[in-house]
Amino acid sequence: MSEWCLGLTGWPLVHSLSPQLHNAALTAAGLRGEYALYPLPPGDIDGLAALLARLRAGKLHGLNVTIPHKQVIVPLLDALTPAAQAIGAVNTVINGQWSMVNGQRFRQEAQFPALVGDNTDAPGFLRDVRRFLGDGFGQRPFALLLGAGGSARAVAYALAQEGWAVTVAARQLRQAQALVDDLAEKVTGRLTAVTLTADALAGLEPGLLVNCTPLGMAPHPDATPWPEALPLPQTAVYDLIYNPPETSLVRQARAAGLPAITGYGMLLEQAALAFARWTGIMLDFAALLPRQ
Ligand code: NAP
Repeated sequence: MSEWCLGLTGWPLVHSLSPQLHNAALTAAGLRGEYALYPLPPGDIDGLAALLARLRAGKLHGLNVTIPHKQVIVPLLDALTPAAQAIGAVNTVINGQWSMVNGQRFRQEAQFPALVGDNTDAPGFLRDVRRFLGDGFGQRPFALLLGAGGSARAVAYALAQEGWAVTVAARQLRQAQALVDDLAEKVTGRLTAVTLTADALAGLEPGLLVNCTPLGMAPHPDATPWPEALPLPQTAVYDLIYNPPETSLVRQARAAGLPAITGYGMLLEQAALAFARWTGIMLDFAALLPRQ
């Protein structure tokens, strides 16, 4: 069986868990190969193009993309999946001229686009939040998102595709409004934008609160995106941050008796979905790298 060459580009990449995850997955799937890091600084379009040329030539078989290249890579690709198109960001690139079945690569007709960008953050979040909410998923389908960056776009798309109403709160109202305007035509759920202030959030009664800001992430674990003056609403809380394992927001929610988790499950799910796109093999990534 031929070797698999997979990898991740972004900047900085030193703390990425992806090599551990995907190398464990290759072993578990019985595939030879390696998942490597390709650090490229912001603005290195030539570096991105060179990596993509390797994917096009069949020397690289799958690429993950993270900050700061998730959006800038889009014009360098031949096609986007509907999710990547709607979100406007790509975290997984495959060579669409190959079909991957059970760890084997087969060349397809050349008329297929070679470089296809996908976004597995959205379905990865959805899989994990469904598990988190269980039977409660859809009982109160109104989500309040804090932050309006790349991850908020993926989360808003995922939930609004399922018919949820989504309110996006950002410190710059125009950023939240731009997200809403971009997605409004592409989803069934109603989207609204508000400013991330105590006054604007008071009185909202979401069934799910999602932190899509970096506030609370190591090395600043005491920060929280929720306005200090305002009590948390009676809602389930999902914090996209997974380092530290219990964020300030999650601690605050649990202390108030609310169900709350961090985004480690989403990290695993988006990786499992990317691995399946490349190899045709869907693995349970939670079993590969149990949380310490
Ligand atoms: P991003 O594109 O940079 O967006 C961050 C958002 O947070 C922006 O709206 C930004 O607003 C806002 N923000 C930043 N600092 C703020 C502050 N002090 N107060 C209020 N708002 C603030 O980042 P992202 O890609 O969406 O990622 C956000 C977080 O999610 C990161 O911590 C990342 O690690 C995590 N994440 C986790 C997963 C997972 O698999 N679990 C996946 C993706 C992302 P401004 O533009 O005004 O700064």
